[in-house]
Amino acid sequence: MQPAAAQVFIKNITLVDVEKKKLLTGYNVLTMDGRILSVDKGKLPPLPNGTTEIDGAGKFLVPGFTDAHVHFFQSGGIYTRPDVIDLRKYQPHEKELNWVHTNMDDLLRRYTSIGITSVIDVGASYTFLAQRDSFTNKDYSPVIRMTGPLLTTYVPEPYKNLGNEAPFEMMLTEEGVRQSVRNQLSLHTDFIKLWYIVTDADIEKGARKNLPLIKAAIEEAHQNKLRVAVHATERITAQLAVEAGADFLVHSVDDEIISDAFVQLLKKNKTVLSPTLVVMGNYSKVLGDQYHFTTYELAIANPTTIATVLNYPQPDTTLAGRYIKAMSSARQQSEEKLADSIMQVNFKKLVNAGVTIATGTDAGNIGTQHAGSYFAELKAMQAAGMNNWQLLEASTINGAKATGQENEWGSISKNKLANMLVLSANPVEDIANWRKIDWVISKGIPFKPEALIKPSPELLAQQQLNAYNAHDLEAFLAPYAEDVEIFQFPDQLLMKGKENMRKDYEFITKTPGLYCKLLNRIVQGNMVIDQEEVTGFGSKPLHAVAIYLVENGKIRKVYFKE
Ligand SMILES: [Zn+2]
Repeated sequence: MQPAAAQVFIKNITLVDVEKKKLLTGYNVLTMDGRILSVDKGKLPPLPNGTTEIDGAGKFLVPGFTDAHVHFFQSGGIYTRPDVIDLRKYQPHEKELNWVHTNMDDLLRRYTSIGITSVIDVGASYTFLAQRDSFTNKDYSPVIRMTGPLLTTYVPEPYKNLGNEAPFEMMLTEEGVRQSVRNQLSLHTDFIKLWYIVTDADIEKGARKNLPLIKAAIEEAHQNKLRVAVHATERITAQLAVEAGADFLVHSVDDEIISDAFVQLLKKNKTVLSPTLVVMGNYSKVLGDQYHFTTYELAIANPTTIATVLNYPQPDTTLAGRYIKAMSSARQQSEEKLADSIMQVNFKKLVNAGVTIATGTDAGNIGTQHAGSYFAELKAMQAAGMNNWQLLEASTINGAKATGQENEWGSISKNKLANMLVLSANPVEDIANWRKIDWVISKGIPFKPEALIKPSPELLAQQQLNAYNAHDLEAFLAPYAEDVEIFQFPDQLLMKGKENMRKDYEFITKTPGLYCKLLNRIVQGNMVIDQEEVTGFGSKPLHAVAIYLVENGKIRKVYFKE
């Protein structure tokens, strides 16, 4: 908790009212102890010493964004879903889980740095749930709402026998299901998540067979004042789940066009739906070796995770070859196209009817990056028919509604959590302006976004290596200092300054087959020593050692040794 005088005063700013969809000019907003104390026009309250003043002239104050669908047990990398592609002999699943546990701090900082001040983990594990508060209590961390393992009608083989790390718990009997719900109470789960999966050929028959388990779980959760989020991607499972009382559908329906009656049912029940438009396409792009990272993603997402995607089809080119072939098959392409167009039609129907839609990425799945994929999801929602006001609503107040916490966050209102963003441009005009963040105010503490991510020297070296392999010059230059110096080892200066580097490295955008493979890396304090093999320049691979020296969070010197 901050001292009682920890106040932020934002003066004369344009307030973005995401509920009434209005811009309100000339407002003063005062926060105290992490909450919004007043939202007024004109009046200037007496300010105690130590108040941080932010001049809001020409700026816009929006509530912090919510990603209503993430999974922290998954990294977003190629090793994260052994049930989809099994690479466990190259990286054991325990190592993958260990990576996400130890990198939580980095992932959370990345979320906050792009203005996401709340995340909803709709399927974690007992271990993660037990750690939730230690993360969310930090001043720079988003609000984390989380469930334990998701209760499911099907557990994929690699997830059996994982103990407290298991993200899935099988529903076998109604009494067993009720016990599973109660098991999460002691860890103060924020809600219950169900995976309503049908493996039968006859989907309706399978859905009805599993329905008593779904009903028992929802009933037990509601008796314990817990909301229920359901994964149901077929028209029939989604309908049965909502009829049984589901509060939050975490995906779109992608097998059939939804009926008007179903849309009205969602409205009547105030069911929240997160469409997750990009996650399935990301799987097929990554596995088909067709994923192209944007400059933004290369800057925002964790570089270690990105590297695993860029290295694909390594580490198993034979196995990957089969996936690449399957993903490019005419059948796969037409199935994907069909599911995608059904999702889009359904999305438009829901938007037009005014169903509560919450922006959610399903981050953590292969190719869908924590923090890094949020804007791709927004763009997909926009392309499918949402206007910018609707996007703002979906990304703020509706995210809060997903867990029933619209009185806690999601708009700039008295007594709500002081989670807000000061933007330098109008977010209603263009969603690109959502990235123009002057200040992230997290629990009443103002942060400069660039100060939130604290990349280690190793991550900086990896970030530029990723961008090199993605052939993205701007992303490649980003981790370098303006006055960077490049030497031939030990002391022959080859180049100085980022502008010269920009000219000299233009070739990376013009050499399509170029790839730099990391053979070995040693990290010592602020020094990273990479042994590299570069292919794509000619017939023979080039070998070099690069030594990166980091100063003040940027790469300041590089030494090359052939
Ligand atoms: Zn999910």
